[in-house]
Amino acid sequence: MSTPAAQPENTMEAIVSLAKRRGFVFQSSEIYGGLNGFFDYGPLGVELKKNIRDCWWNDMVRRRDDVVGIETSIIMHPKVWEASGHVAGFSDPLVDCKVSKNRYRADQLFWSPVVVDGNVVGYVSALESEKTAEELQAAAESLKRKKAIQGTLAPVVAKDFTEASAEQVSLIPSPATGNPDLTPPRSFNMMFQTNVGAMTDASSVAYLRPETAQGMFVDFKNVLDSNRVKLPFGIAQIGKSFRNEITPRNFIFRSREFEQMEMEYFIHEDADWDKCHKEWIEWCRQWLLSIGLPESHLSLYAHPKEKLAFYSRGTVDIMFKYPFGVQELWGIAARGSYDLTQHANASGKPQEVFDEASKNKFVPHVIEPAVGVDRIFLAVLAAGYAEEDVTDEKGNVEKRTVLRLSPRIAPVKVAILPLLKNKELLTNRAKALYTKLKRNYAVQYDDGGAIGKRYRRQDEAGTPWCVTIDFDTIEKPGDTFTLRERDSMKQTRVTETELFALLAEQVY
Ligand code: ATP
Repeated sequence: MSTPAAQPENTMEAIVSLAKRRGFVFQSSEIYGGLNGFFDYGPLGVELKKNIRDCWWNDMVRRRDDVVGIETSIIMHPKVWEASGHVAGFSDPLVDCKVSKNRYRADQLFWSPVVVDGNVVGYVSALESEKTAEELQAAAESLKRKKAIQGTLAPVVAKDFTEASAEQVSLIPSPATGNPDLTPPRSFNMMFQTNVGAMTDASSVAYLRPETAQGMFVDFKNVLDSNRVKLPFGIAQIGKSFRNEITPRNFIFRSREFEQMEMEYFIHEDADWDKCHKEWIEWCRQWLLSIGLPESHLSLYAHPKEKLAFYSRGTVDIMFKYPFGVQELWGIAARGSYDLTQHANASGKPQEVFDEASKNKFVPHVIEPAVGVDRIFLAVLAAGYAEEDVTDEKGNVEKRTVLRLSPRIAPVKVAILPLLKNKELLTNRAKALYTKLKRNYAVQYDDGGAIGKRYRRQDEAGTPWCVTIDFDTIEKPGDTFTLRERDSMKQTRVTETELFALLAEQVY
């Protein structure tokens, strides 16, 4: 029997600790103190990540007739990034604290005037978090107390640092020092630069791609001319992207090296882009549900028209309720014909298709669903993590940590557990089953320790099923095993055929 225990006070801390303890995620270069914004994936993590990628690739590319895949290089011609607008505009507003040398993203640094009886008596600041508003309010009350000002304190109004006037910039306290030590915001380009070839001058500058999407635009004609594709069709890619984020944070949510799964869906210039956009939003939402994210944690955020780039027709983000707040997981943008037009102009190579009906050429428009593998990884860990009180038959209560991962993405699908390590009849049968399952599935053989301990180990790793080879398997007719289900902890007896049928249905 199990009852959900209270979620740990700090779910993120619990997840980061489990990720390290069980080999999902490590800090990169940890023995040298780590490198901020970079992570390594351990043996369980790499399987989980691969499963997320494979599910997406299978559903997005192989199981659709209108999407093809490509893989483009990480370093592309630098002109790609000039044409795309990244060299001029892929930047975040950066603020320095002159004393502590801390750096902040201006749009993640919040402040408010402290107003007593209608008069501004000072300023307070706080970094973006779930509790920004409360922190600002508490700081305002504290400032009023410290200055011993009588009167009524107006509620704080949080604004981000990009909205501060020059005078306000000189008065707002740095979160690090409490004194007005902040610089005005300035643009910081997030692309990592490198040099190609032996020369390290301006002529050899190149960039690590900050998104995979440009690969699809630059290869649009190549794909069109080498494949029997017709509009509407999509080009998909999975690969690493790099952004020199000012404040990488929240574990793997915002890192400097991460992996994206992006697709450019090209449509006729007269097509109903709004309908197509909505269909893709729903497709993405359904896909997230199919890999086990709970509907209750998902929401949609439509970017306000006035904040969109001039060429953008609309962007909707699928948001996920992470332990640190509701944040973007998947962006679905309707980008018009902007990208292909930019590359046509910059390269001098037309990026048009011929319309049989009107006998005209036109530049296709595009819908772009773009998601980060690492953000999905964190979302499934956060949604799946639970601590429960479990009561055994003798009435003893113990805590179990369980990762409720969908069988589609779980790193290990089945654990094969011979009841006893030193009974050959049991271990032989277990090994035979293990060998057979291994051909198609990621399975683990574990004969170490009490069976209850082995179940707990698999619960923590997110393994949906354990199969125990016990005396009934070898002594009773039918060659059945005990199948123990992770979430309900229910045990049933199944045959090998039934086990394979279950896996075929649930792991796809
Ligand atoms: P954010 O506003 O959170 O910085 P973005 O709007 O810049 O994200 P896009 O450029 O639309 O993100 O990138 C598409 C997807 O790539 C995002 O929805 C996210 O899942 C992922 N992504 C972007 N930046 C990072 C990062 N630094 N670390 C991990 N994943 C990222």
